[in-house]
Amino acid sequence: MEKKTFEPPVIKKLNAGMPSKFGMTPRIEAIPEIEGHKVKDLLKDHGSPLYVLSENTLRSTYRQAYQAFSTRYPKVQFAWSYKTNYLAAVCNVFHQEGAWAEVVSGFEYHKALKNGVLPQYIIFNGPSKSYEDLKTATEKGSLIHIDHFDELYMLMEVAEETGKKPLVAIRVNMDTGIYPRWDRFGFNYDNGEAWEAINRIMLSEKMELAGLHTHIGTYIMTAQAYRVAASKLADLAVSTERKYGHVIRYIDLGGGFASKNTLKGAYVPGTDTAPSFDDYADAITGALINSAIKPEHLPLLILETGRAMIDDAGYLLGTVIANKRLASGRRALITNVGVNLLFTSFWYEHQIHPAEKVSQHTEDTTIYGPLCMNIDVLRAAVDFPLLKKGDHFVIKRIGAYNMTQWLQFIEYRPNVVMIDTQGTPHIIRRREDLDYMTRQEELPDHLKNFEL
Ligand SMILES: *Cc1c(COP(=O)(O)O)cnc(C)c1O
Repeated sequence: MEKKTFEPPVIKKLNAGMPSKFGMTPRIEAIPEIEGHKVKDLLKDHGSPLYVLSENTLRSTYRQAYQAFSTRYPKVQFAWSYKTNYLAAVCNVFHQEGAWAEVVSGFEYHKALKNGVLPQYIIFNGPSKSYEDLKTATEKGSLIHIDHFDELYMLMEVAEETGKKPLVAIRVNMDTGIYPRWDRFGFNYDNGEAWEAINRIMLSEKMELAGLHTHIGTYIMTAQAYRVAASKLADLAVSTERKYGHVIRYIDLGGGFASKNTLKGAYVPGTDTAPSFDDYADAITGALINSAIKPEHLPLLILETGRAMIDDAGYLLGTVIANKRLASGRRALITNVGVNLLFTSFWYEHQIHPAEKVSQHTEDTTIYGPLCMNIDVLRAAVDFPLLKKGDHFVIKRIGAYNMTQWLQFIEYRPNVVMIDTQGTPHIIRRREDLDYMTRQEELPDHLKNFEL
């Protein structure tokens, strides 16, 4: 008879059927398939772990967001935030839906051009544009959002050298009643710095002040903060028109809408707390419509929504490597998905679902990734059913930032698949291999050989 491995007994509080003040303890539902494809087939065909994106969800989320704003305001334009996910297939889904590109570095700017976005539809944000970047963007006629005075002066030089008037906006930061206040980007509204930047631009006559921009933060859970932000930008637009007779063509409210993920330490799941696109749209368009801006000069409203646009469309699929009991008696699950692939696990309590039906009996579990590093924890403490070695699982809502902030560390990055609207999966980024990993390396001659 086979000898059974010893499992120390654990004493566990039974809470079946007992609601807490927030309702029943959430049951962990299995996710056996995504867009009609069995999780186990996707993993068999494309390897484990695997990122999966739903083109249906990308498009339907975009349309919901667009509808929320365009039904409330006459001129609305979304710009896809490249840093949230700059895989070409993802960007092009949004560009096909009508989104411009929003980029924050020279690399992202050139990626947008390479994706085929016309330069006049690229918004160039970020604190670190080089002289060359500014020159290219000026010559091509992209929208340059100025972050600080040093950049403003550099742009004046560019204007002189190229003999072209850069099309610009200033980025504005401000108190909107929320914490933390992001004051490191742009010019401050409340202390008059933003107004000073506008005056310098208008008086220099070297640039065309096309817009005003703000990005008040990320995962903003109160729509009211946007009402404040939109009113303050509207005030600047009104002052500019009054003093210079110059009409501001667009107001850009940036990104920052919360996705439905749950932040660490939150009592209530994000699905219950995240404002809807309608809530944000009400606040923003209300502030613009009720401002002192003349109706015939109502600016184009630009939104750079990132995480709320894509989080729901992304899934990360993985496989259990082992079960363990820690010395403390706590159950530990070792998986092949680590923080290298799920950077957002530093902020979110990600929802992890078994791919097959499992028993409803759960135990307090720590879920680890495969890295040989203590920080590699996906969930520090979650009531989780027992999964066996080789079982599969699905992590939901991972579309934002994980495919750009991922770390090439210890493991190769896996395939990324997009399931199109007809249900066909396409690989949109190939898994890495040794050749990819070493392609950029150079080995000096004296280090080519060794004897052991
Ligand atoms: C990151 C970023 C965005 C997108 O932010 P989300 O919080 O993901 O919506 C938009 N605009 C700018 C300038 C950004 O830096």
